[in-house]
Amino acid sequence: MTGLTLPTYRDVEAAAKRIAGFAHKTPVLTSTTANKEFGGELFFKCENFQRMGAFKFRGAFNALAQFTPEQKKAGVIAFSSGNHAQGIALAAQLLNIPATILMPNDAPAVKVAATQGYGANVVHFDRYTQDREALCKQLAEQQGLTIIPPYDHPHIIAGQGTSAMELFQEVGELEALFVCLGGGGLLSGCALAARQLSPNCQVYGVEPLAGNDAQQSFRQGKIVHIDTPKTIADGAQTQHLGQYTFEIIKNNVDDIFTVTDEQLIDRMKFYAERLKVVVEPTGCLSYAAALAQKDQFQGKRVGIIVSGGNVDINRFAELVSQ
Ligand SMILES: *Cc1c(COP(=O)(O)O)cnc(C)c1O
Repeated sequence: MTGLTLPTYRDVEAAAKRIAGFAHKTPVLTSTTANKEFGGELFFKCENFQRMGAFKFRGAFNALAQFTPEQKKAGVIAFSSGNHAQGIALAAQLLNIPATILMPNDAPAVKVAATQGYGANVVHFDRYTQDREALCKQLAEQQGLTIIPPYDHPHIIAGQGTSAMELFQEVGELEALFVCLGGGGLLSGCALAARQLSPNCQVYGVEPLAGNDAQQSFRQGKIVHIDTPKTIADGAQTQHLGQYTFEIIKNNVDDIFTVTDEQLIDRMKFYAERLKVVVEPTGCLSYAAALAQKDQFQGKRVGIIVSGGNVDINRFAELVSQ
């Protein structure tokens, strides 16, 4: 129908082989306190402990490792001011591929420094006067670079799915899995893994209430575009799902929930106080929704994908003291 060749579980398996020895096998945490509050058994897959602090390294490495020798020589280009930039920069460094990252000239200095620290060439643009996608295409054509988008790419989706694959392989089948959702790369990859390794598991995506484009898209059966939402979940400020991610989500996900910024802050505090982990606001989406729905999951085994931990320490302090 769509003419797209969608990735499958086999691609997730192949990605796991490709990233082995490069990506961390992240830990699964459990907590008696969390289980008591929830009324079931929670398994936290901690991608905040992944290299560069988020699951994005998985997809980035899986995509770059499949470049042809010519593509490797010419280099990769990506646009992002967040975790995708760092994932691409680190994967490119490990594979000896030159990386160019387009970032808005008002991107946080720490993020620019982290990306440059992995050896990437950061090119700034003015987000108010320049179209970053057009600029990216222009640079890619001029310099023969390959564009790797943050979520709508089969290799990115397959790589992200290895996080859920590892979770099921470690803890066995689950009754539900909650996944943080922006453009849907993580959710679609995790759904492919769930359908294969735990066929009866309900798979849920969770996005910020202020930016519920995926929920609208899921319910209307077509990709809905919104303006950039205002939320503290900066990794989920996407305006729409991708073509690949929408197709996979439509066919393999059971529902999409939304949560407020207040719910995210509440879980950020809980993660820090009870599990002793730093989770960025976007990484709190999955747990916040699971807790809000807990009546449906009493006595059940539920997986929570904790997507990342990259939050400026002063910002973290500000948010948890609210
Ligand atoms: C990118 C990101 C997300 C959203 O991932 P998508 O694949 O765009 O849905 C969630 N959490 C964190 C920490 C991220 O960096």
